[in-house]
Amino acid sequence: MEMLNQTNNINIAKHFNLAEFACPCCKRVMLHPKLLAKLVELRDVLVRSVYITSGYRCPAYNQKVGGVVNSYHLIGLAADIQVKDISLIELLEICEEIDFSGIGFYEKKNFLHLDVRPTKPSRWRE
Ligand SMILES: [Zn+2]
Ligand SMILES: [Zn+2]
Repeated sequence: MEMLNQTNNINIAKHFNLAEFACPCCKRVMLHPKLLAKLVELRDVLVRSVYITSGYRCPAYNQKVGGVVNSYHLIGLAADIQVKDISLIELLEICEEIDFSGIGFYEKKNFLHLDVRPTKPSRWRE
């Protein structure tokens, strides 16, 4: 059913499509507007594509990828990102300025976790 391939294929901002945030296993999706707004701001500052490597995760998928049980990916408040042609540390500095409340720095796997948790800010590195 070709029509089903269009599920979540909705542009939600100039450079983002809802499908990019959907869970890979079930296509379910939750996305907080604050997270999207900050990602749009990041995209505008970078003038480069921001690749969402993990957006919403259903509980089964989160478990499969080894996410923590209370992961912000489960409630649409988190995204993992990669950006080409910029060092991870430079990207981190820009994300600090945009003031994401949670930032995880994953040096080996070369991605940043970003979230808009409502509780106190958190920073970690792996
Ligand atoms: Zn799923
Ligand atoms: Zn993450």
